[in-house]
Amino acid sequence: MNAEHAITRKKALKFMALGSFTSILAPAVFTTSCAANNRTGGYQSYDEIFNEVYPFSLADLPYSYDALETAIDANTMEIHHGRHHQGYINNLNNAPEDHADLQEMTLIDLVAGLNNLPEEVRTAVRNHGGGHLNHAMFWNTMSAEGGSPNGALKEAIDRDFGSEDSLKEEFSSAAGGVFGSGWAWLASDSNGGLQVVQTPNQDNPLTDGLTPLVGVDVWEHAYYLNYQNRRGDYVNAFWDLIYWDKVAEIYDESQS
Ligand code: MN
Repeated sequence: MNAEHAITRKKALKFMALGSFTSILAPAVFTTSCAANNRTGGYQSYDEIFNEVYPFSLADLPYSYDALETAIDANTMEIHHGRHHQGYINNLNNAPEDHADLQEMTLIDLVAGLNNLPEEVRTAVRNHGGGHLNHAMFWNTMSAEGGSPNGALKEAIDRDFGSEDSLKEEFSSAAGGVFGSGWAWLASDSNGGLQVVQTPNQDNPLTDGLTPLVGVDVWEHAYYLNYQNRRGDYVNAFWDLIYWDKVAEIYDESQS
């Protein structure tokens, strides 16, 4: 993972100017047509999400709270984003108070290097750094338009799973099989090989040396208002919202 991190840091510098440009402009452009409590920003890039440093902040969603209602109701979106995700960020920002060196670390380095962190902050970063990263990825890999796998990602899916349908079957089965709270992921290894994995709680595949491409949140807070115990229906509906262009972009970035 070290080589990948080095590349990611280099790219962070390259994208820094673009990132600050969009973060200044996006709210001004979008707030004119949206309610103040439901602002929408643009999609975040791989670099913005992975290379954020302390103090961490909650980005506006790339769509309105009701945009994904074919799968996720607006009330769930608002509580999940505004309260749960914000909560992880607040707790993550409290973690490095006495550890100035951690304040220089990117989110990807914190989560991937979790096992090397000082013991007294490890659990907080595991739960809340993972929580922040997982949710930032979740919002940014969904769209009302969905789409289909394309490019190198599609080739890798066909190679490693046989077809998108087979991948969906394996992914849904993994999501259904998470006992208690956690996530199911499509992830890639450093050779571009794809795997479906589960993580408990807010753990992220990065800690196990894999790059997360798209994950589904199967904590009850993600679906219970609308689906109650029908997790399978939620995961099935989520599948149609996967923003494959963005997932392909993350895959390409992680392999370049
Ligand atoms: Mn969640």
